Amino acid sequence: MNQARIITLTIDGKHVGARTDETILQIAQENNIFIPTLCHLDGLTSVGSCRLCMVEIEGRNKLFPACITFAIDGMVVFTNSERLTNYRKKILELMFSERNHVCAVCVSNGQCELQSLAEKLGMDHVHYHYRYDNYTIDATHDRFVSDQNRCILCHRCVRVCGEIEGAHTLDVMGRGITARVISDLNQNWGESESCTRCGKCVQVCPTGALSERGRSVAENSKRRQFLPYLTLMRKEDEQ
Ligand code: SF4
Ligand code: SF4
Repeated sequence: MNQARIITLTIDGKHVGARTDETILQIAQENNIFIPTLCHLDGLTSVGSCRLCMVEIEGRNKLFPACITFAIDGMVVFTNSERLTNYRKKILELMFSERNHVCAVCVSNGQCELQSLAEKLGMDHVHYHYRYDNYTIDATHDRFVSDQNRCILCHRCVRVCGEIEGAHTLDVMGRGITARVISDLNQNWGESESCTRCGKCVQVCPTGALSERGRSVAENSKRRQFLPYLTLMRKEDEQ
């Protein structure tokens, strides 16, 4: 078995110590260096799909997703440059243009990670044509609602349902921007026999795509106190 080694690297000019089994994102977080993320959630498998955590590495032309790139001794990483901010804003713009994110009428207004990141990164325009496909809202579950018009395909819900709850109710159907999250074999969520109604998927959803029933616009606050336990449960599982 390969043992993790202790290494040193530089992130944004700061010399930091790390282990070879740590990702750049983990090391940055340990050292209070902000890297934006949307698909990543501590305790769930990292998939590197949203590309917001892209960083620059000295000597390499291409960008690397910090959540799935492991540190190497002597690495020089930049997490915050004009090039990266431009790319990140473009990614956010594409997300806003693909599906309907009209914040004023969203249950997660004020609680949405997509909205917060757009604000934080100074995204004030969408330079692409709005696509806004029209997806049916699944309100058949007695406790939750799925509105795929607000989904950014981060797959956090799919991973938490499979990896933590073990129910494997949620999955993704289709490809590219027409992909959407479904329950069981594309049945109504309310008819799902595998859903335990735990609500974990709703709590980890970064947008208003999954919400609790009966909450009005801007009332759907996320209760995420259980999130730190995801990492703990995962570590215990791996032992
Ligand atoms: S409520 Fe729990 S079991 Fe049901 S889909 Fe969401 S995470 Fe899976
Ligand atoms: S429903 Fe929410 S958590 Fe699931 S993929 Fe879409 S945005 Fe992500």
